[in-house]
Amino acid sequence: MKPTSILLRLAKYCFKYKWRIVGGLLSVAIMSAADTASAFLIARLFEVLQNISVQVQHKQEILVPVVLKVRDFVLYSFIVHGKQESFSLIYQFAFAVLAIILVKVSFVYSREYLMSSVQQKILMRFRTEMFDRIVCLPVKYFDENKTGHIMSRITNDVNNLEQALYLIVEFVQNIVYALIFATALFYTSWQLTLVSVFIFTLSGAISRRFGDRIRSYSKDLSNTLADISAFLQERISAIRIVKSFTREKKESAQFKQKVETNYHFSMKIVRVIALLSPTNELFNTIATSLLVVFCGYLFIIGSMTIETMIFFLIIVTSLAKPIKSLGEGAARIQKTLVSARFIFDVLDLVPESQSEENVPLIVKGNVCFEDVSFSYTTDLQAISHISFKVAAGETIALVGPSGSGKSTLVNLIPRFYDIVHGKILIDDIDSKNMNLQSLRNQIAIVPQDVVLFSGNVRENIRYGRLTATDDEVFEAARAANAHTFIERLEHGYDTEVGERGLQLSGGQRQRIAIARAVLRNPKILLLDEATSALDTESELIVQEALERLMKGRTSFVIAHRLSTITHCDRIFVLDAGTIVEMGTHEELLQRESGLYKRLHSLQFADSQPE
Ligand code: ADP
Repeated sequence: MKPTSILLRLAKYCFKYKWRIVGGLLSVAIMSAADTASAFLIARLFEVLQNISVQVQHKQEILVPVVLKVRDFVLYSFIVHGKQESFSLIYQFAFAVLAIILVKVSFVYSREYLMSSVQQKILMRFRTEMFDRIVCLPVKYFDENKTGHIMSRITNDVNNLEQALYLIVEFVQNIVYALIFATALFYTSWQLTLVSVFIFTLSGAISRRFGDRIRSYSKDLSNTLADISAFLQERISAIRIVKSFTREKKESAQFKQKVETNYHFSMKIVRVIALLSPTNELFNTIATSLLVVFCGYLFIIGSMTIETMIFFLIIVTSLAKPIKSLGEGAARIQKTLVSARFIFDVLDLVPESQSEENVPLIVKGNVCFEDVSFSYTTDLQAISHISFKVAAGETIALVGPSGSGKSTLVNLIPRFYDIVHGKILIDDIDSKNMNLQSLRNQIAIVPQDVVLFSGNVRENIRYGRLTATDDEVFEAARAANAHTFIERLEHGYDTEVGERGLQLSGGQRQRIAIARAVLRNPKILLLDEATSALDTESELIVQEALERLMKGRTSFVIAHRLSTITHCDRIFVLDAGTIVEMGTHEELLQRESGLYKRLHSLQFADSQPE
């Protein structure tokens, strides 16, 4: 994406707040007009004082006309007569300058408020739009991108954008400043104005070249920041593994390396920016000196009055600052535009097909795979030509060596991934044609590793159905064998759980996940059997809750321990992405050289006391 198209897209966001921006810019215009007016008064005062001084030196009586006019339009005119009136004239001028500056200062507030509110509103919109988009992206995106990288886009890149918006606002303000000052100058002496604009534009062009260099480094800088986030996220969430392998030093060294890379790119930018500032300073000083010489020359040959010269020099020095910031701002904006590009890249990703309305869908729970194939990457098929029919209410166990495709098969039912070949029918309807939310509303998943969100137990269970009443939550917890242990917690259902709350045991988390599923009341259940990690007592309680949950629903259970699935209606044995055997426990055991029998005898041998 080109910098101009990024700016155009940012401008579209700004357009929504056009009135605030207009108000802010008007304030800027008033501020610079006030500056011009005070310069005008000061220059006039100098001219009058010079005339008074000439008369005092010649011991004449003070008699000086004071005329305030813009071009030929006279604003104010009177004649100063005597010393007393001369003093009072100085007070009047001082008072007028003070009044003008007071007006200016009051508009500083409105400019600051209006412009910053636009900036904050846009940031808020970016944050929410990015999160909205990210949660709607297909699961594939989360497979391909590190969590830390994704988080860095929402945190670091949006923060950078805050800086970009600040700079853009400043940039636009400076343009308004520069325009008003330049107009004032133009009225004073157009020849001098053209010379100053030429000199200052030259220094702007130099800044642009700096900007190009900054932009290319900023991309690397943003990527190193995302890398740091990803590294932190991974290592902190797996801190137990780091500690158990005593790899603290190795991780610290690796982190240091990443931080150093980041430092390296930051310093590259710092060097360019550090060089930019003195270069600009030098150019501006040369420009101002040239103008002073030029003005002095015109004054001596009588082509310029002292008033015009003072006014010109005050305004030219005021103009130098916004013009200098224009150049620097343009360069710095390049740096932050890189983050804007990353943000727009995320916003442009294609979400899963979401539909606003939830088409009510009542299914019985028949699931049929017709010659389904799927691959994550182009070279290897994770699922290959699988066909089966499962009647509503059946319980199917999926067994097979690790990597044989059990999780993949289960993930295809809620359409976490789109299949490349074949059809998946739910009650004879191709799931591809179903509204995604309606389809997923009919499905509940109890994963192996249950994650509880920050919040209390009640909220965590209610995640299954947000509209559930408290009584329904309690009922679901009872069905999941969770009610008793929850009641015994210090604050019962109001106990805080999740990352910063109470740490529940694996079995307790499983039962909360089951309660969530009960509330959802799905027709299809997908279970990643987790009982293998539990002690015998918890396993029995969880198993009982699961059986209650599975009653009357179509269930797919990924089985890790074959002893727990003997009761299933049918067992699908997978190997290398295909179903190699299908049948009940007894049927499969009868196949002499079958994979199931082999797996079963292996596990059976493992569980035998030595
Ligand atoms: P199982 O659940 O039986 O252990 P999986 O369904 O997880 O097997 O994996 C089947 C195959 O797909 C394996 O070869 C695995 O490496 C590959 N696979 C699984 N998940 C992904 C993924 N997110 N991206 C790429 N390949 C994957």
